[in-house]
Amino acid sequence: STDPLVTDVAIVGAGPTALFAAFECSMLKLRCVLVDALAEIGGQCAALYPEKPIYDIPAHPAITGGDLIAALDQQIAPFAIPRLLGQRVETLTGHRGAFALGTSAGTQIRAAAVIIAAGAGAFGPNRPPLDGLDGFEASGAVQYYVRRRTDFAGRRIVIAGGGDSALDWALALKDIAAKIWLVHRRPRFRGAPETLSQIDAACARGEIEKVTPFQLARLHGTDGALSGVELATLEGETRVLDADCLLPFFGLSTDLGPIAGWGLDTHRNTIPVTPSTCESSTPGLFAIGDVATYPGKLKLILQGFSEGAMAAHAIHPIVHPDTALHFEYSTSKGVPGSDH
Ligand code: FAD
Repeated sequence: STDPLVTDVAIVGAGPTALFAAFECSMLKLRCVLVDALAEIGGQCAALYPEKPIYDIPAHPAITGGDLIAALDQQIAPFAIPRLLGQRVETLTGHRGAFALGTSAGTQIRAAAVIIAAGAGAFGPNRPPLDGLDGFEASGAVQYYVRRRTDFAGRRIVIAGGGDSALDWALALKDIAAKIWLVHRRPRFRGAPETLSQIDAACARGEIEKVTPFQLARLHGTDGALSGVELATLEGETRVLDADCLLPFFGLSTDLGPIAGWGLDTHRNTIPVTPSTCESSTPGLFAIGDVATYPGKLKLILQGFSEGAMAAHAIHPIVHPDTALHFEYSTSKGVPGSDH
């Protein structure tokens, strides 16, 4: 497609350790880019527990996952680091000094070094096990994220799932859609009391129709055009909803998928590294955070921060072979925009 994005360090992932590694790289004047499968930065902290307090981040007696990510975001803001979000890194080839990465969105990246900060793997939606699903996903008849609410104007939508995402999107789309069915395999939905009462009120007004306890059974239609969603109960009772759009909200799961195919040494979904540098057995390729392993490894955010600093220092000679790196404190360097 377009020209490759050329940088010094490609960082796979945009979780907490990737964000801090980007800071450390920037302080050493290494250019970097962040790539994440999720549409937002923050990895597990943002996707799994934004409201939960973390108690073991140094100098923060308690900070929520969401606030930690906001603070890391603010810390790297002065460096204006490019972020490629909503795209998974699928391919990695090359060698120390010249790596090439390709993403699911078709972006090509050239980098002298790579830091893999992939956690437990790329986050993606849990997909329902339905025949022919791929074709309906490709046409947009089945979607897992609502990118633009207006895309759903006048649509006949099945929203599947029993949790907050399903409920919140049913409420957000009810005024714009032609019809909304809310399908769950259990009779009861799990959500905030206020949300549940808003759903009941919308059902009473005929804006949303609850269909329970039903599971998705089959998709009707051809060439990616959806004409109906067939549901079934555990007892085998079936029902077909004449929907043209399906939004399943069955949560997120992680998939180390592509990384396992990059020819790296992996051990139980982790990448063994040299602890003092975080370099893997492939020269120029580093791993930090939950995905990295070595004897005594602690899967903690604070450990990942330190690994990012070590990796950045170890990468410096790859990018700047002729410039000796003199160790300096941040207090003597400052960051762009600070008055030092
Ligand atoms: P992650 O946060 O997992 O981020 C990895 C990112 O990489 C993901 O966003 C993923 O989508 C992306 N990615 C992976 N593969 C690809 C690819 N091929 N292409 C593009 N993107 C990719 N830790 C603590 O220190 N203290 C705590 O109190 C604590 N509490 C926790 C509570 C809960 C409920 C959970 C689930 C975890 C907790 N943790 C805690 C663990 C902590 O969240 C992890 O150690 C931390 O998130 C690891 O950060 P990371 O950057 O290595 O990976």
